[in-house]
Amino acid sequence: NAQLRGIVKRHGDTTVLHGVDLEIGAGEFFVLLGPSGSGKTTTLRILAGLEPVSEGQVLIDGEDVTHAEPGARDVAMVFQSYALYPHMTVAENIGFPLRMVGTDKATLAQAVQDAAARVSIGHLLQRRPGQLSGGQQQRVALARAIVRQPRLFLLDEPLSNLDAKLRLETRLELKQLQRSLGVTTVYVTHDQEEAMTLADRVAVFMDGRIVQIATPREIFRRPAQVAVAGFIGTPP
Ligand code: ATP
Repeated sequence: NAQLRGIVKRHGDTTVLHGVDLEIGAGEFFVLLGPSGSGKTTTLRILAGLEPVSEGQVLIDGEDVTHAEPGARDVAMVFQSYALYPHMTVAENIGFPLRMVGTDKATLAQAVQDAAARVSIGHLLQRRPGQLSGGQQQRVALARAIVRQPRLFLLDEPLSNLDAKLRLETRLELKQLQRSLGVTTVYVTHDQEEAMTLADRVAVFMDGRIVQIATPREIFRRPAQVAVAGFIGTPP
């Protein structure tokens, strides 16, 4: 599981997170939802260790990782831009996190095959990212994230660069993938429908604060504030 306790984040004089508290259960699909600039990405980057906190604590599986480097947290992140290495093949991209930790060749090859098969790109292993569609590149990024079996799977608007039809298909597959792996997942989006269909629970962000944490059904039925109702699109 993962926990944020009293997270405050400042950039100079601006406070972008005003005390965020979260507890994400083991195996949970947890969505951070909110309008642009509300602090979702900052929260995810803090979980990943890509950004230091100004105040507060980050715990993963009960271990205080507030000051741990990203590589020491055993988390994997998927970005909106995919961030693949263009000069490497798909197989090399997927295997990269394992190569970094010195995994032997045979184990690495098997893990790459397994991860690729899980996202249906086993036939693309020798291509380079430039020879793939957006949806296929997205799958490579997902395979690279799961290849090390991370404790925490972090995704920042991973579907936003796909067209509407592909976004819908990939969303369903992503949910199945998460279920089959049972990996604790934190997913950032500003898309209400995406949040409602993917999440076990949703945290709604507004202006650097969490204004509601609940299941999609509860949020839809009983939005905590008029602002949430407005954002979700239900009458308060
Ligand atoms: P989006 O969906 O647009 O990415 P978000 O909810 O993920 O929005 P964040 O990216 O977390 O929001 O940003 C929260 C706030 O922090 C924004 O107002 C942003 O301008 C501000 N911010 C982020 N990084 C910095 C920085 N390096 N310096 C100053 N302000 C920053």
